[in-house]
Amino acid sequence: MNAKIICIIIVLSGIGFGLWYWLGAHADVHGKSAYAYTEAILEFGPRTVESDGLKNSQQYIAEQLSKHGWSTMVQQKQRDTPEGKRTFTNLIARYQPGELSSLDDLLKLPTKGILCAHLDSKRIPGIPDFLGADDAASACALIIELATTLGTENPELAKQLEIVFFDGEEAFGENITPEDGLYGSRFYSHTLYQRKPKPQFGILLDMVGHKDLKIAVPSDSPPELYESLMRAATKHGHEKRFGMADQPIIDDHVYMNKAGVPTIDIIGADFAHSHWWHQEGDNIDIVSAKSLTISYHVVLTMLREQLAK
Ligand SMILES: [Zn+2]
Repeated sequence: MNAKIICIIIVLSGIGFGLWYWLGAHADVHGKSAYAYTEAILEFGPRTVESDGLKNSQQYIAEQLSKHGWSTMVQQKQRDTPEGKRTFTNLIARYQPGELSSLDDLLKLPTKGILCAHLDSKRIPGIPDFLGADDAASACALIIELATTLGTENPELAKQLEIVFFDGEEAFGENITPEDGLYGSRFYSHTLYQRKPKPQFGILLDMVGHKDLKIAVPSDSPPELYESLMRAATKHGHEKRFGMADQPIIDDHVYMNKAGVPTIDIIGADFAHSHWWHQEGDNIDIVSAKSLTISYHVVLTMLREQLAK
């Protein structure tokens, strides 16, 4: 073998390794940052309705976002639950919104897209310390990182995005029913009926940081958003981790779709049959910075594409 061929082999191996590395076989600075935000949110303890854990994590998220140009407001409503009246609190964020005196002002800002996740953790009998690390603290943490990047790289795009951290996704009973669960997203979605112009898309994130990342969006997902997701996943070499479930899924996107804003639920596959969903095991040990890196790049690519339309 002459020196020239050896040189070519070395260069090609270098390129191959570089590509493998670049395509997310590792955790990058954004995934590591989202992981650190996840840890910080979990430090506040369970985030059930009206809990200090929920209030403190909302305050923490608002502080992180404000460092990067995002302002937040809360949307609060009292609702009947199987356990009596409870007050649910959504946190809504906008990039450099200017002078705003009320939530009504904020909800009048032009909005092309909505990025959202639920911050509340489920209250589970027999597991008082249930943390909901991937359900869905990791998604909220990822949103902080996405918001930071978007605001820094393209303020005009960031201004067209509304970010919502929902309360009350989890039901008081075992499962979400028409009367129990999705409290926050239901009253937030009421605001979407009157929006002019109507937001064009929504992206809901749920369980996007699991160390064995596998995503299966509901079977009734808006086709255009599913195609956009798969384009983004393919661009980053992760198309095998993304797909569609065999059935619809009940989650916060349901009322957004009902209100006429096509919303995709980017959610972990087959969670109901896992050994951690709504169980003790949903703690930081099942979340990885590598998976958050993958979710970060795929969702950011999607957001750039949808917001630029
Ligand atoms: Zn849950």
